[in-house]
Parts: sequence; C-alpha cells; structure tokens
Amino acid sequence: LNKEGFRNEPMRDFSQAPVRAHFREAIATVRSRLGMRYPLVIGGEEIETQETIVSVNPSRPDEVVGVVARATAEDAEAALRAAEAAGPGWAKLPASERAKYLFALAEQMRKWRDHLAGWMVFEVGKNWREADGDVCEAIDFCEYYAREMLRLDTPQRLGSLPGELNLMFYQPRGVAAVIAPWNFPLAILCGMTVAAAVTGNTVIMKPAEQSSVIAAKLMALTREAAFPPGVINYLPGLGEEVGEHLVQSPKTHLIAFTGSMDVGLEILRKAAHTDPRAQQHVKKVVCEMGGKNAIIVDADADLDEAVQGVLQAAFGFQGQKCSACSRAIVHAACYEEFKTRLVEATRSLILGAADDPAHAIGPVVDAAARDKIRGYIDYAKAEETLLIERETPADGYFVGPTIFEVRDPASRLMQEEIFGPVLALIKVDDFGQALDVANGTRFALTGGVYSRSPLNIDRARREFRVGNLYINQKCTGALVYRQPFGGFKMSGVGAKAGGPDYLVQFMEPRSMTENT
Ligand code: NAP
Repeated sequence: LNKEGFRNEPMRDFSQAPVRAHFREAIATVRSRLGMRYPLVIGGEEIETQETIVSVNPSRPDEVVGVVARATAEDAEAALRAAEAAGPGWAKLPASERAKYLFALAEQMRKWRDHLAGWMVFEVGKNWREADGDVCEAIDFCEYYAREMLRLDTPQRLGSLPGELNLMFYQPRGVAAVIAPWNFPLAILCGMTVAAAVTGNTVIMKPAEQSSVIAAKLMALTREAAFPPGVINYLPGLGEEVGEHLVQSPKTHLIAFTGSMDVGLEILRKAAHTDPRAQQHVKKVVCEMGGKNAIIVDADADLDEAVQGVLQAAFGFQGQKCSACSRAIVHAACYEEFKTRLVEATRSLILGAADDPAHAIGPVVDAAARDKIRGYIDYAKAEETLLIERETPADGYFVGPTIFEVRDPASRLMQEEIFGPVLALIKVDDFGQALDVANGTRFALTGGVYSRSPLNIDRARREFRVGNLYINQKCTGALVYRQPFGGFKMSGVGAKAGGPDYLVQFMEPRSMTENT
C-alpha cells in the first residue's frame, strides 16, 4: 500500500490448479453466451438499430462473439443531448460521491473478473495472462483515479502574503467523447471513461468496432455500479461516422482518444475547428497514439534476460501493443550470439487459438490486420534478410512471429508502426550509435535498454527520449501509478495515463484571490 492506499490489483497465478479451473469455467460460460445482441445505451435507455456490427472470434472467425447495434449520426446526436442533460447534476456532486461510483465499478469488475477476461480471449484473441492483465489494469484505473480525484478536490492555497488568500481549484469541462482502440479493449476504454467521469464530465463511449462486445460488458457493469443515466453512454459504431460526429459536434468539450497516429492527427485537426455560432469553447483533446519502440542490447548485457525481454515485448499479444518492441538494436560485440538465441527462442513459441492456455501466441485481431501485416512481411522479404517466419495454424487470423535483419535505420521496417509480430534486428558499433538509431523515428513511446554499465544506463536516462524507458526490463506492461504511461512526438500529447498529471487534463483550472 502506498500513502494514498492504492495498490495494483494482483494478477491471477495460473500455476495454481484451482485458479486455472476457475478460469476454464469462466471461459466455458462465456462460450455458452456467444452470439448475443447488444443495444446502444443512451441516457439509460437501450436502443436497437437497423444496422449492426458482427464481432467474431479471430481464433475461429466462424464463431460470432456478439451482434452489436451500430449507431448512426442521429444516435450520436441523441447521446450528446443525453450527456449534456446529465451534466449539471453530475458535475454538482461532491468529488467524494463521484469517486464512490468508481470504487463500485472496480468491485463489479472484481466480481466478474474471469468472465471479463474470457470475453477478451474470444473477442480479440488475448491469451489468458494478457486478458487477466487487461482486467487488472481496468480495476487499477478505477481505484487510482478515484483516489487522485480526492486529492485534486481540495483547493490548493498558493502564496502566503498577509491579507490575501489565493486558491487554485478545478472544474469539469462538460461532455466527453471517449474514442478507444481494440488492443486494451477493457483497460483503455475504462481508464479514459472513468477519468472523464470522476472529474465531473459526462461521457459517450465510442469503442473500436473489433471490441464492441467487451465495451458492452463494461457498460453493463457501470449500470450495476449505479452510475446515473446519461453519465456514461454506450455508442458503438463506425469511427468515420459516429466517431467523427462526436469529434466535430459543438456539444463536445473534451475528446479522449487512444489509437493510431493517422486517426489521432485527424481528430486533433478537426477538433481545432470552432463553430462561432454554436460553440463558445475550445475542445480539449487528450490524444495518445502509436509507437515504433526499440530495445537496445548493450555489449555487456545479460543475454538470458535480454532474449526473454525482447521476445515477450515483440511477440506478446502478437505485437499488438502500442508499447511493443518492434526494433532490437544490438551491439556488435554480442550481436551474433543474441541473434542465434533470439531466433531459437522464437522457434519455440507455440501458436494457436487463444482460449487454450498452451498457446503463447494467438491470432491478430482481424483479417484486415492480418493482411496489412503480411503485406509488410512480403515487402520486407524483397528488401531485408529474413531470419525466421513461423508457420501459422490454417484456421483463424494468424501471422507467425517474424524477424528480419535490417541494415538501414531509415528503412520502412525501422520507421513504420506495423502493429503485429514483426521484429527488425539491427547491428550497431557502439552505445552512442544505438541511441541515435533508437531516437531516429517520429515516435517516442516506450524503449528498453539491457546493459550492465552504470555509465550507459545513466546516458540512456538522459538521451533515450521516450515516454517510458525500462532498464534491464522489457518495454511492455506498464503498471498504473508506478509507471505512468504515454509518449510524446508523434506518440501523443504526453498525458501519462495512470499518473498524477492525467486527471487535471480532464478539467479546467481556476484560481480565486480574496482580499481578506
Ligand atoms: P485506430 O484505427 O486509430 O482506432 C481507434 C479508434 O478511433 C476506434 O474507436 C476507431 O473506430 C476510431 N476512429 C477511426 N476513425 C475515426 C475518425 N475519423 N474519427 C473519430 N474516430 C475514429 O486504432 P486501433 O487500430 O483501434 O488501435 C491500434 C493503435 O492504437 C496503434 O497505433 C497503437 O499504437 C495505438 N495505441 C496507443 C496507445 C497509447 O497509449 N499511446 C495505447 C493503445 C493503442 P473504428 O474501430 O470504428 O474504426
């Protein structure tokens, strides 16, 4: 426990037979509930739509996970009105009251923990451990932001001049559009939503199409946690349609977006437009985008650790983490040995459907992702040296872990976010060159260094310019509170989810001076 009483939710220990048995049961229950329909939820009302999103299991695409209502622009308008109407009542509640809803939601997620993880196994192809970690992170966001809000609720007294009282405090912004990615389908959606809600804003959740069912489960739990109607609304639909409508609407005050660079930049551009007849505010955009993350392996690195770290960071959840390692930058002194051991370790990974815990590597999220990643592999086969490409199961959207040896730091494989299990390996002559290559992209999200040299570790802290740097540890798996997450340059605006600077961005700061 830290001083505010927050502690990270412990992950399941799947080495224990009863824990595995419980999880298996949850998976079986989820399987028996596949194919259900999920309506929109606007102002507490369930609304069916003509069009639907059919969400399928990427491990077995003929298995329908759920059929989800697909909102139109009119539904988005209704959601904006509902959020606007619920706003004043919600904003007036004391922060301590709003925080209670987050604690209640965390409790609900604990109650349904293995089921929630089970839905992620089926809907996005996370393996047991990754899915469990996703639920833990969602619980952490509720517990942490609730406490953070209690801290921020007390007005700060500034200065000490006699006869003058200065107070600094915060107010909510208004209606928040939360636009989320599919890769942390519970944690990121939940984190942005509860951050917006606990700070006194009302929320419209627009989940990614691929993970609309998990988002429906989160919506259901917010209702169990008794959030008042209209405070959190569920608006699944197409990004270009309802996402864009929410971004452009003058009713929207705040946009919390996590996703790709292209979409993020477009949202920043569109949100900057103000309609002088309908809008008297500038929209705030909390925008977290992609990465092209590197791990540096120094001449004296512990290779046992470095091989495992790069392997897990590059291929965990099939490389579909914004924090994933897609470039391994290795000192010439240990390059050949590292390469041989990494390729052998990659050969040992077991691929298959995500619901079987024997499988370390599952499918990628959908056919479009598979085709895009395979496109990169085909291109790279012509340009680079292929070190290993794993065979894939016949069924499902699989791409095998693949490693290329690359010579040019400017090549596409070293510069573009592929968002799949494709790793570029490059040899460098010294630590300075390693840092130049590592910093030589437009992104700055995560990075790692394996080294035993205190001098080089210190140099990395100063010169390896990323949002989250890990020393002798893999560059994925940031924990709420202990490792505030997020990047800069084209990786985002530096909002640092799960850290002490996050919530203030969801509010407007004010100060008052009284002549006493
Ligand atoms: P994405 O394609 O950018 O989509 C993200 C969200 O934006 C989805 O809900 C999407 O809806 C919506 N959207 C698409 N076009 C839109 C538009 N014109 N206006 C408004 N909304 C729109 O990203 P993704 O494939 O879901 O997620 C993967 C990306 O997220 C990667 O680049 C990864 O690095 C990044 N990511 C970053 C972080 C971080 O913290 N920095 C964390 C996780 C992921 P549809 O699903 O309907 O298209």
